[in-house]
Amino acid sequence: MRFKYCPKCGERLIEKYSWDEGGVPYCPIDDIMYFDTPKPCVVVAVIKENEILLLKQSYIFKDSKVLVSGYVNNGETVEQTVYREVKEETGISVENIKYLGSEYLFSKEILMLTFMAKYKSGEIRKSEEVEWVEWGELKSALCEMHEDEIGKNVVRKVLKEINYDLEKN
Ligand SMILES: [Zn+2]
Repeated sequence: MRFKYCPKCGERLIEKYSWDEGGVPYCPIDDIMYFDTPKPCVVVAVIKENEILLLKQSYIFKDSKVLVSGYVNNGETVEQTVYREVKEETGISVENIKYLGSEYLFSKEILMLTFMAKYKSGEIRKSEEVEWVEWGELKSALCEMHEDEIGKNVVRKVLKEINYDLEKN
């Protein structure tokens, strides 16, 4: 998002030149440059043997299951977001998290940082914001997530990482 007014003091922003970025909205009162940055969000595939943690959240996709996801809070690392979101949404603790690359969602200016994580401990205990959480078979996850293109890309990367052969399983 490109800011016009300072979110701290309400002053109209001026343009300030910043090397490669060119003109950047700037508040001379707070001395802050407001770069046009995306909102970082994590997407996590939680794996337990041949199963994957799938959620139902109708406000995201009406007829598809999705992976755990959530925004990175200010003040935490992306890794902390992964542990926190999985725990908050599903009650599960994870370990051995691995970064699988990023995807950009233009419509919402969201930068999705995708991860896989290994189940460590805990029973499923879903949060209010989630309608349903279950362990699903890895082999059928791609079908059950049919609307969620980014989630499916994550699952494909996971299958490759763990050398899971869809034909044989
Ligand atoms: Zn200001």
